[in-house]
Amino acid sequence: MKQKEPITLQEAITYFSDPQRAFDYAVRLRWPDGKVTCPRCNSEKNSFIKTRRMWFCYGCKKQFTLKVGTIFEDSALGLDKWMTATWMLVNCRNGVSSYEIARSLGITQKSAWFMLQRIRQALQDEQTGGKLGGPSGPVEIDETYIGGKARNMHKSKRQRLTREQGMQGGRGKTVVIAALERGGQVKARVIGDRKYPAVHGAVRDFVEPGSAIMTDEFTGYFGLESEYQRQFVNHLEKYVDGQVHVQGVENFWSLLKRSLGGTYVAVEPFHLFRYVDEQAFRFNNRKDALGHKIPDAMRFAEAMTRVAGHRLTYSQLTGKDESPRHETTGTGTEEVPF
Ligand SMILES: [Zn+2]
Repeated sequence: MKQKEPITLQEAITYFSDPQRAFDYAVRLRWPDGKVTCPRCNSEKNSFIKTRRMWFCYGCKKQFTLKVGTIFEDSALGLDKWMTATWMLVNCRNGVSSYEIARSLGITQKSAWFMLQRIRQALQDEQTGGKLGGPSGPVEIDETYIGGKARNMHKSKRQRLTREQGMQGGRGKTVVIAALERGGQVKARVIGDRKYPAVHGAVRDFVEPGSAIMTDEFTGYFGLESEYQRQFVNHLEKYVDGQVHVQGVENFWSLLKRSLGGTYVAVEPFHLFRYVDEQAFRFNNRKDALGHKIPDAMRFAEAMTRVAGHRLTYSQLTGKDESPRHETTGTGTEEVPF
């Protein structure tokens, strides 16, 4: 008899601990129409080898598993572990640390860290869903500064980071810019600096031309008036037009900072964008179009449908082939190896 699909974390762990159930569930999410397609040649002609849970493709005459072409490819960890980790990451409001995943799944922190980074990559959706704004209402735009950890870095490492990644903002902080459609979706990006090209480039990528946008007085937004209907918040005036504010996007920043400060403690600038993507995913999947809260199981299913086509190797993640190292800080355990 088919077991009811999971609703809570506890049910999810039980449900996915059965390899066949985890497999069936993942197959349904990957090929919702039931047409199993070869990830290599897109042929739909194949036969299923039940004993090995893999397919033989008549198009390219090769075998493929469910993992081929997904973030799970090349991983020795079972689908049950991947699915449980995904469930935890997308449904914990402030994220979940690699240490907690390691404890829950009985794997090493290094493996857990790598899993989480792969899942975060699958959640990355800056490019999807079209631009914000247009007739759908005003878009709030704001920037924030994360960290300051770069100050504590060894000088040569800091210089290398600045040169290679170009992610250092003012005073050793990393700049993140976000656009939020009122009552809708957020798009966020780590930008190299606060100069016009980076700021204007992000706004153009995020928001339909001609839309109403609201920003603060930050000079980086100057000049956008020629492409957008820009209104800005004057923080010096107490009683401004009630409609002109960036409080929605400030709410996103507070969620992001809570997860970075509480769960992840210290994230290297190089990796920050993945945590921004993670928070944006949770934020964008918290409510449906009618404003109803999205259940955990739905948010999880949405995340699982994104895993196909996202491959990420360890060297791509870290920029080199090296084991992650971790250190402890005064306030907790550093999440991200570098
Ligand atoms: Zn094929």
